[in-house]
Amino acid sequence: MAEVQMGETETFAFQAEINQLLSLIINTFYSNKEIFLRELISNASDALDKIRFESLTDKSKLDAQPELFIRLVPDKANKTLSIIDSGIGMTKADLVNNLGTIARSGTKEFMEALQAGADVSMIGQFGVGFYSAYLVAEKVIVTTKHNDDEQYTWESQAGGSFTVTRDTTGEQLGRGTKITLFLKEDQLEYLEERRIKDLVKKHSEFISYPIYLWTEKTTEKEISDDEDEDNNKEEEGDIEEVDEETEKKSKKKKVKEVSHEWQLINKQKPIWLRKPEEITKEEYASFYKSLTNDWEDHLAVKHFSVEGQLEFKAILFVPRRAPFDLFDTRKKMNNIKLYVRRVFIMDNCEELIPEYLGFVKGVVDSDDLPLNISREMLQQNKILKVIRKNLVKKCIEMFFEIAENKEDYNKFYEAFSKNLKLGIHEDSQNRAKLADLLRYHSTKSGEEMTSLKDYVTRLKEGQKDIYYITGESKKAVENSPFLERLKKKGYEVLFMVDAIDEYAVGQLKEYDGKKLVSATKEGLKLEETEEEKKKKEEKKAAFESLCKTMKEILGDKVEKVVVSDRIVDSPCCLVTGEYGWTANMERIMKAQALRDSSMSSYMSSKKTMEINPENGIMEELRKRAEADKNDKSVKDLVLLLFETALLTSGFSLEDPNTFAGRIHRMLKLGLNIDEDEAGGDDTDMPALEEDDNEESKMEEVD
Ligand code: ADP
Ligand code: MG
Repeated sequence: MAEVQMGETETFAFQAEINQLLSLIINTFYSNKEIFLRELISNASDALDKIRFESLTDKSKLDAQPELFIRLVPDKANKTLSIIDSGIGMTKADLVNNLGTIARSGTKEFMEALQAGADVSMIGQFGVGFYSAYLVAEKVIVTTKHNDDEQYTWESQAGGSFTVTRDTTGEQLGRGTKITLFLKEDQLEYLEERRIKDLVKKHSEFISYPIYLWTEKTTEKEISDDEDEDNNKEEEGDIEEVDEETEKKSKKKKVKEVSHEWQLINKQKPIWLRKPEEITKEEYASFYKSLTNDWEDHLAVKHFSVEGQLEFKAILFVPRRAPFDLFDTRKKMNNIKLYVRRVFIMDNCEELIPEYLGFVKGVVDSDDLPLNISREMLQQNKILKVIRKNLVKKCIEMFFEIAENKEDYNKFYEAFSKNLKLGIHEDSQNRAKLADLLRYHSTKSGEEMTSLKDYVTRLKEGQKDIYYITGESKKAVENSPFLERLKKKGYEVLFMVDAIDEYAVGQLKEYDGKKLVSATKEGLKLEETEEEKKKKEEKKAAFESLCKTMKEILGDKVEKVVVSDRIVDSPCCLVTGEYGWTANMERIMKAQALRDSSMSSYMSSKKTMEINPENGIMEELRKRAEADKNDKSVKDLVLLLFETALLTSGFSLEDPNTFAGRIHRMLKLGLNIDEDEAGGDDTDMPALEEDDNEESKMEEVD
């Protein structure tokens, strides 16, 4: 921050990203410039909310200016438009920090979005709406007075810097902020009454403070001499003095009068107090946009009131998209505004809605809470707990309503399925209901996704459980060896390929009385006929000694080696313990680098190798092992099978080089290349004997 002292005026450099943003706003052509007014009015409204909230516990905060308002003053002579509010104002430090030296996290994101073709009207969502003033203004002056500081002005024509000056000579605001825009020559339309009124109607109709426009009126009147003293009594209430310019003509003649008055240009009756059946979709959309700064309409809305021992009204909205920082853990997402008897109390009231529903936006207006409620009181508050319960219920109802339209639900699910899954993990009370909102691709769903409910209608005779497989992507799981037997039996398997699915399904455990069973864990029991059973027993007996040999070769890498129940084509696979981590979970935990080592060894080490007695490789291996247990090629093959199984079962290889070495040797065998002839590569291809020494650093996947 460069700081130059110039008398009372200090000059500051804009923070680099803000500076870039300003150039982008100034130098790029955007047709949608009008949104600047919405942004500045929204800031005024936020500032008014803040002072009103403070005044609830300390009335004297309003002393300097008891009235709460927003005023718009177009000045054609000077080509300026001013937006004045009696909100909380800014201290000098606020001015310097908020308007130029500290970049918001959204600054960069917004620029990226713009460059990717986003509309400039999205600016408010990224927390940098103030700078939209430069869409229409070449210079901006902000005059502001906070209760805790003197009055200051901030001034900038962009271009890298701004100044801040103590304001002793200018019009004193009492409290609040006045933003004066010196309009560019081609933006003078924003001085027109009609244009301003239309804009306020379009973008700011639901601002809950009065917005007054300074209007000019010319009337012709016949007056007599002695009348012209007390003309111009048209001003509204006691808002402001009337600025009069009367052209007097001779006695009893026509007089042209130019008068000014504050005209109220918004309705402020809160939309949530009106009857839902009398509100149009457009009105909801317009309210939604003013509430959220979104540039698109909402996807769904729920407007309701609760009556009885507890009374409140609420409107809840689901947006069409997830915000850019939905899962930014630095920021607690909460988008419900709390009102008490029409008075705004606070946003981000954590007690109002659980975290997983943080993407739902809206307002709640309670009749029962005390006006002077503080954040601390909220935590204990019983009324709030009841409100919260109702809000969750209504949100879920709303999601089911969205689900009635497939296209809408796809959009919703794409944006917020992670939230639903988080809900399943956290909200035990609503878990069962939320489960009905889940959708998965499956071995039978094709392009579409299926609900658990639909899955259940497709259960095969004798199928008692719901099967699923977790993994990194649909592609990675759909041809997994684990599914072979299940597919052959005609059992449908759900593909759970979201990291959060592991957590959600771990909590869900069952649906509609049916157990959710992982295809990749131990304990997958499939129905079988007497004949199948007998055949399996025979195979088991025949392969018992191979299993033993393999376990000896693999050592601690596996818990045990058994004849498999689930594979049909592949030679073998690796399953994990019923209560331990799946391969997918192991991958997730590794990626998160979260694992404390004791936990990870406990959770992840229990791998069972399952072999397929029907597979030709296994049959051959059995013969060789029975002929000579210490056959080198048996050992090499077993290790190779293990490593390949790690991959096909969704684990990762700890030491891909050793694996590659083994593959290369196999290739040479296949190509009939003599090991000794292939000179020069002995170093990166350990001979079979050397393998024993290498073993310690091999495929330790845990
Ligand atoms: P946002 O409104 O999302 O915080 P803006 O860029 O619109 O982002 O505004 C930046 C900040 O400047 C606000 O958070 C607020 O602290 C301050 N500010 C802007 N306008 C006003 C105003 N009229 N009164 C008080 N503070 C304001
Ligand atoms: Mg803003």
